Amino acid sequence: MSLDKVRQRAEQDAKSRGYHLNPDPGFLNDLLEGLKTNEERYGYPACPCRMSSGFFDLDRDIICPCDYRDPDVEEHGACYCSLYVDEATHGSGEAKPVPERRPPEKQAKALGLDEDREVEPKVVRAVQAFETERKLFYCKQCGYVTFREEPPYVCPICRAKQELFAELKTSLKLWTT
Ligand code: SF4
Repeated sequence: MSLDKVRQRAEQDAKSRGYHLNPDPGFLNDLLEGLKTNEERYGYPACPCRMSSGFFDLDRDIICPCDYRDPDVEEHGACYCSLYVDEATHGSGEAKPVPERRPPEKQAKALGLDEDREVEPKVVRAVQAFETERKLFYCKQCGYVTFREEPPYVCPICRAKQELFAELKTSLKLWTT
């Protein structure tokens, strides 16, 4: 995907949420380049400010726009990378540092850091552990269903908050491979 396409996609997404892209052209360009590189490397636009595992299931919460963007913009005026900023931050021209909201256990799993640093086998084991911990959740507002460790911070369909998700109990056996 060309850098222009990556930029257009980010611009459209920002517009749909009432956000802006970072007003510093050089900084913005670096972030968009990072997204482009990650998309070429992994097949999905993983966050340019975080370490990715290369495993979709472990990285899904940090695929841009990540699960943490909306609560971060709401609380801090910018996402973790400061790619997306709110009106006030855009007007001030300067984003404040945003603390990492991604749970440490997810970071550890994604990077295979819970034991030694032999990343590949650890990541495979993390994938297996992750698979067994996932559950079905549904959005009580729009019915969106997702299979993951915990409900998303925000419903990707109707933007309902995490509190509006409930676990979907099923008698079906969910398999792991
Ligand atoms: S922190 Fe910002 S740039 Fe990184 S994935 Fe989230 S929304 Fe995208």
